[in-house]
Amino acid sequence: MAKVQSVPKLQTVRGTHDIMGDKARTFRFIQQTFQQVAMRFGHQEISTPIFEFTEVFKRTLGETSDVVSKEMYSFEDRGGESLTLRPEYTAGIARAFISNGLQQSLPCKFFGYGPMFRYERPQKGRMRQFHQIDLEILGVPEPQADIEVLAIAVTLLTELDLMDDITLELNSLGDRESRDAYRDALVVYFTAHKDKLSKDSLARLEKNPMRILDSKDEGDRVLVADAPRISDYYNDATKVFFDEVRAGLDALGISYTINERLVRGLDYYSHTAFEFITKKLGAQGTVLAGGRYDALIEMMGGPATAGIGWAGGMERLAELISPDLVPEEIRPIAIIPIGADCQIEALKLAQSLRASGFTVDMSYRGNMGKRMKRANKAKAVAAILIGEDELKRGLVTVKNFDEGSQTEVALDQITDHLSHYR
Ligand code: ATP
Ligand code: MG
Repeated sequence: MAKVQSVPKLQTVRGTHDIMGDKARTFRFIQQTFQQVAMRFGHQEISTPIFEFTEVFKRTLGETSDVVSKEMYSFEDRGGESLTLRPEYTAGIARAFISNGLQQSLPCKFFGYGPMFRYERPQKGRMRQFHQIDLEILGVPEPQADIEVLAIAVTLLTELDLMDDITLELNSLGDRESRDAYRDALVVYFTAHKDKLSKDSLARLEKNPMRILDSKDEGDRVLVADAPRISDYYNDATKVFFDEVRAGLDALGISYTINERLVRGLDYYSHTAFEFITKKLGAQGTVLAGGRYDALIEMMGGPATAGIGWAGGMERLAELISPDLVPEEIRPIAIIPIGADCQIEALKLAQSLRASGFTVDMSYRGNMGKRMKRANKAKAVAAILIGEDELKRGLVTVKNFDEGSQTEVALDQITDHLSHYR
């Protein structure tokens, strides 16, 4: 019997994608715009490992959160440690803050971006490997930080020309006292309707009833509509804090709507919580979201340190951005040696032009016609033809494709002649 050879699976894993071409260009544009905006606000780049000890996420995100209860990519490594591919950025940054003893240098203002991993049911706008931009301020308990992170988000979304289709939804989850009072009210309410709750929400009722407000189950949502409202349980401190945040937003002309059902998916939030939402992406309409997490770092075993931040989904942002806004790749100058003898001269010229900052394309083989075609395909702005006879006179021919013109240029003046292409 013939041996059956096993064929490797040569497709991406469900819920993961290759990023190239226009999408790669759009991603780079988002990253660069984000980087510039964040740095303008005095933030510094941080890049934490893609995997951490499972505890880093398990303890912080909350046992009943969707992420911990069913979405984590956890595995045991060869040394028997339980590790998890990061499902979000904040816990890793909080861990980094503690491990690096950064409480000496507060406030810490960070930004970062990269892949995140969640075992979700793949669908439009929901992937298993997706990418986030992330921004955090640590060590500022004042509402100024809330205002600032929101201003950064609005600046970014404005520069990506998205603000016309996006609304900011805002809520306050209150301080500890307000939250506890609200929590008790929710327990009373949902216990009275226990028989109509989904299985997941029954578990939440035990462990974290506020999480029920974030349930995606239809039956739960009907109950949630009539649940007690959090603003009825705000104490004075919560009210003052929230008023200051709103006054700051008003002063900056940032509009928002209050959504009292907005609780966010993770456990560590208090006070300000927010989401930037669009109607243009169907069910997965949240493009950027975050909030204040003053208890997180202490909960992880670090010194009590306030924190606030947000994360934006790059795939969802990329889907919204107008292609006209994304810068085209720089058009190259093509170098075309005519005849084998000019090959080395062409190579040297390409090298020196690249070293002076020009984008240069050089094909590897073929006659002049083939190489011209290649130059066209690469959308070259110009070609430099290097022929033996001219070379003896120290000249090359520069063809400008857009003007259809052709000039002989001395080799030692080529950089000057091309300077407007740089
Ligand atoms: P949801 O309630 O939609 O599951 P979430 O609370 O899990 O959202 P966050 O953890 O706040 O989302 O993530 C911040 C942003 O990252 C989201 O607003 C979204 O833009 C993006 N995002 C989250 N999960 C995914 C995913 N699986 N695929 C693509 N983007 C995602
Ligand atoms: Mg989720």
